[in-house]
Amino acid sequence: MKLDLDKIVETVKTYLPQKKESFIGLHEPIFNGNEWTYVKECLDTGWVSSAGKYVDRFEEMLAEYTGTKRAVAVVNGTAALHICLKAVDVRSGDEVLVPALTFVATANAVSHCGAVPHFVDSEAKTLGMDPGKLALYLQEIAELKADGCFNKLTGRRIKAVVPMHTFGHPVDMDRLLEVCERYKLELVEDAAESLGSYYKGRHTGNFGKVAALSFNGNKTITTGGGGAVLTNDPEMGKLIKHLATTAKVPHRWEYFHDRVGYNYRMPNINAALGCAQLEQLPRFLRQKRSLAERYQRAFSSVEGVSVFTEPDFARSNYWLNVLLLDEKYKGERNRLLEHFLDNHIGVRPVWTLLHKLPPYQNCPCMELSAAEMLESRIINLPSSAFLEMELAEYDV
Ligand SMILES: *Cc1c(COP(=O)(O)O)cnc(C)c1O
Repeated sequence: MKLDLDKIVETVKTYLPQKKESFIGLHEPIFNGNEWTYVKECLDTGWVSSAGKYVDRFEEMLAEYTGTKRAVAVVNGTAALHICLKAVDVRSGDEVLVPALTFVATANAVSHCGAVPHFVDSEAKTLGMDPGKLALYLQEIAELKADGCFNKLTGRRIKAVVPMHTFGHPVDMDRLLEVCERYKLELVEDAAESLGSYYKGRHTGNFGKVAALSFNGNKTITTGGGGAVLTNDPEMGKLIKHLATTAKVPHRWEYFHDRVGYNYRMPNINAALGCAQLEQLPRFLRQKRSLAERYQRAFSSVEGVSVFTEPDFARSNYWLNVLLLDEKYKGERNRLLEHFLDNHIGVRPVWTLLHKLPPYQNCPCMELSAAEMLESRIINLPSSAFLEMELAEYDV
C-alpha cells in the first residue's frame, strides 16, 4: 500500500490555524509577558551588558525552577556545553561519548576542547542514547586503568558521556548513570531541548555533574541567543562562573586572570527577556502538552504514521512534536517533507547523523542501526505553544 500523503498533510491542517498563504513555522517564540517592560528598563538605566540585576535574577529563577543549586547564564547553548566539558576537565586528545543523533552543537563543543566525539547509538523508546547498547560496547572496547577509562582501539582516554534529551524527551538516566559509574565517566547532560522536562519527577539537568540549557530563538523559551549551565555542586558553580567571566579574579581595580577563560556571560538585556519568558513557562508547557495530545489523537487513525509520546518514566516538555513513519514507509520521508512545505507547513527531518558530516566522518563510532532507522523515519511537526492558543478559536 502507498502512503497517503494528502491525508497526512490534511490531518495537520485541520488542527492548525488556517490563515491563507501564511506559513506555519516549526517553532516560533511568544512575547506576551513582561518582555517590553524589562528590556526597556535595561535601556533606560544603561545596564545592557554583562552585569546587571536581570542576570542575577534569571540565574536564581533558573536554579529554582530546575531544582538545581546553581545556574550560570551564558551567551548560547554551545558555549554552555563547552564550559560544562571544561569544568569536568575534558582535555585535548580525550574522547567524549555523544549520540550520533543530536544537533551538531553537542559534538562541536567536544571539538572546541580539542577532544574527539565518539558516537553512540540511540534507542527508539526515548530517541536518546541507548544505555544497554553503550554498556555492551564499552565491555568490548574500554579498559579501566588507575587514571581512567581508555579506548583500547585508539589508546585515547574516554573522559565523559553527553546524553541529549531529544526534542525534550528524557534519556533513561538511571541506566546511563550505572554505566558512567562502572566506567568512571563524567556525565554531562545536554539539556538544551529539555527545559520543563522531568525524569522520574526530577527536572532534567540534575543527573550529571553539570548540564547545559539553550535559549535560542526556536527553543521552548528564548533570550534571543542564550544558554545556561546547571550544577548541584556549589564549587563547580563558582568555577563555571569564573570560566565564563574571563577567569578574572574579583578585585576592585586589578585585572588579574588566573587561567585561560572565556567571555561567555549572558548580557543583562538578554537576561531581561529570559526573566519575562521564564515567568510564562508553565503556560507554554500546558499549551505544548495540549497540542501534542491533539496531534496524538488526530494521527491515531491515520495509516502509516504515529506520533511519538513521552517515555513512561518521563514528563516531557514536547518541545518539538515527532511524526514517526512506519518502518515500511521510511523511503517516503522526503516526499512527505516536500508535500508539507508545499502546503506552507514548516516541518523538518531530524538532523543528519553526525558521523556522516565532513568534520566528524572519521571519528570513532559504534554500530548505529537504531539512529539510522530513526533518521529515516522522523519528521518534526509545527510545535509553537501559540498554535494551541489560537486553536481555541477554531474549536476543532
Ligand atoms: C539548541 C541546541 C544546543 C545549543 O544551541 P545554541 O544554538 O548554541 O544555543 C545544543 N544542543 C542541542 C541538542 C540543541 O538542540
